[in-house]
Amino acid sequence: MLEKGALYIVGTPIGNLGDMSPRGREVLAQVDFIAAEDTRVTRGLLTHFDIHKPLLSYFEHNKADRGEQILSRLLAGETCALVSDAGMPAISDPGETLVASCRERGVPVYAVPGPTAATSALAISGLPTGRFTFEGFLSVNKRSRREHLLALEREQRTMVFYEAPHKLRRTLSDFAKTFGEDRPVALARELTKLHEEVWRTTLGEAAAHYREHEPRGEYVLVIAGAAPPAPSETAWGPEEAASLARERMAQGLSASEAAKEAAKETGVRKGEIYKLLMEGME
Ligand code: SAM
Repeated sequence: MLEKGALYIVGTPIGNLGDMSPRGREVLAQVDFIAAEDTRVTRGLLTHFDIHKPLLSYFEHNKADRGEQILSRLLAGETCALVSDAGMPAISDPGETLVASCRERGVPVYAVPGPTAATSALAISGLPTGRFTFEGFLSVNKRSRREHLLALEREQRTMVFYEAPHKLRRTLSDFAKTFGEDRPVALARELTKLHEEVWRTTLGEAAAHYREHEPRGEYVLVIAGAAPPAPSETAWGPEEAASLARERMAQGLSASEAAKEAAKETGVRKGEIYKLLMEGME
């Protein structure tokens, strides 16, 4: 039984229709209407599962007006499912704004989880999965692209990126320049589809390969994080160690955890770093 006036975020397959969950099907069959990124794509999915529901398009360029319409219908008590072309809506897909508006206006939002290319690729990449960062698509705007890459130069967590095949060459070349030719990467292609493949290599080799070969299909790029600098190789002073700890705090660590991490990376005593962090907060 669905809740009246609620939005259901329904994950759909990223290739293999067998990945559509029974609960996802049930919700799609029960809602009053479905908001879809591309109604033709979703109609194909619904026909396959013999589901017949009114569809409404909701995509990047109509999301402001359409979002308002969907909200009014939700506020009037209808139930809606939001789907994208593939995977979890709102993950590098339209939907984020609609969910935020629902949260602001007190409309309940429920997850009906399905596959996501990012975590599927990470899980089979063979790279460290303990700590990772999802980076989505690089911007095509030169300045924001450079800022995004610069911000990741010293990133130690595994990084997960999406990329369209026609932009893969330029992206691999920018990655090789930013992270170095030797940095390990896993290129996960066509996940859950007939030609699924994971290629573990280095950024230099991947860039060279795709200069000669046409990229085909959908890709997730999983890049190893930077190795932590050995304390003996760096001349970290307490202030630099504290600023590293502040970066870690911005990433979500507590002051004590951040001081501990920074101490490990810099060789500066944890107590000294912690003291500087506290002084900066007074
Ligand atoms: N919402 C989706 C999700 O949950 O993964 C992502 C949508 S985003 C617009 C599309 C990007 O996801 C593609 O450019 C590609 O990077 C990645 N992707 C989607 N399906 C994929 C697949 N089967 N194999 C590899 N990458 C895929």
